[in-house]
Amino acid sequence: MSADLGLCQGHQMCQGEAPDVFGFDDATDRVVVLDEHPDESRRRDVKAAVQYCPAMALALEEE
Ligand code: SF4
Repeated sequence: MSADLGLCQGHQMCQGEAPDVFGFDDATDRVVVLDEHPDESRRRDVKAAVQYCPAMALALEEE
């Protein structure tokens, strides 16, 4: 799980999808990846977050 902080625009959509995987830094107005290797059981929500991020800042490496 990785986030391109140069692309992130602070929409916080990702947090809505998976709040245990994505946090938010108010100071920088950017996403914080809380869990770089989310459990398989979280994959659906994480994929949704990647898909819905308006800035396309998130990427999920396939294992
Ligand atoms: S949804 Fe995308 S742009 Fe918004 S906070 Fe998450 S990573 Fe950043």
